[in-house]
Amino acid sequence: MSGIKVFRSVKDVREYRLQCTLRGESVGFVPTMGALHEGHCSLIKESLNNNDVTIVSIFVNPSQFSPTEDLDAYPRTLDCDLELLSVLKNDRDEEENSSRKVNAVFVPTVSEMYPSGISLDVNEQKGAFVSVLGVSGQLEGRMRPQFFRGVATVVTKLFNVITPTKAYFGQKDIQQTVVVKNLVKDLLLPIEIVVLPTIREKSGLALSSRNSYLSENARDDAAIIYKALHLAELEYYNNNEVTDSLELLKIIDNVLKDYTDGTKGNYDIDYVSINHPKTLDTLDKITPGVGAIISTAIKVPNGHGDFTRLIDNVVLK
Ligand code: AMP
Repeated sequence: MSGIKVFRSVKDVREYRLQCTLRGESVGFVPTMGALHEGHCSLIKESLNNNDVTIVSIFVNPSQFSPTEDLDAYPRTLDCDLELLSVLKNDRDEEENSSRKVNAVFVPTVSEMYPSGISLDVNEQKGAFVSVLGVSGQLEGRMRPQFFRGVATVVTKLFNVITPTKAYFGQKDIQQTVVVKNLVKDLLLPIEIVVLPTIREKSGLALSSRNSYLSENARDDAAIIYKALHLAELEYYNNNEVTDSLELLKIIDNVLKDYTDGTKGNYDIDYVSINHPKTLDTLDKITPGVGAIISTAIKVPNGHGDFTRLIDNVVLK
């Protein structure tokens, strides 16, 4: 038993939040789907460093999964997650000797979060949903049409319940950060959105809960994804002439070639794309100062006879 405070109901976590308000405390919030790793921990530590109180949520959100996706198989490791959360501490503080830990974990049931019920089939869904138009249909949204409606809906619900001062998100899911920033702006929510860098394995592979689907070999191989993106990033910074998206995409294509043509692997690339960092429009040319996102989604053979879909990105300034 971790001893950490866990709330299961909206009513209880609201009551806790009210007490924080009455004490004038700032509240940092880190929404997650659990199966926690160092990527999640970096967000949580930043919240501990910058807020009086930190609340983490763990909720595998059904509405962002399509009926053909991995909702049932998604890793659920609540006991380990709570153990991990109970030992995390802030690693920076102005006041000496002041140590902060995660104050509460919100682990709602599906019926708490979706009182009208939730079907994975969009055509059968009933109730209130939130869409952030203009930035939800490209990239991940093109491959997963229901995805950002599900994300925006659950994030809105969580923000309504927790009413955080600041909320922390990872660059790993970069389109999600654009969607959430627009959500907060357009719905006039007084919440500061903080985006933190992607935490990677030594090999460069971005940490992800879904990496647990990969065999050791598949995981080693998948480091090629970041290598490809990073090479394009280096080219952009080292050679000021290279602002042409096609040239950067060619570099990535070259690195991944052996992994897509069967020589070293049979990766199935959903997309590699260069987009404007705010509008997510596809860019033919990159304007230094405005910058761009190079992002990719690739289905890699996971070593267990199936494919696992991985995403990654680099941001050019
Ligand atoms: P998830 O549990 O996958 O929904 O992720 C919860 C939060 O952790 C999201 O804001 C993610 O972007 C963030 N996150 C996931 N993986 C990483 C990573 N490798 N580095 C930094 N943040 C991450």
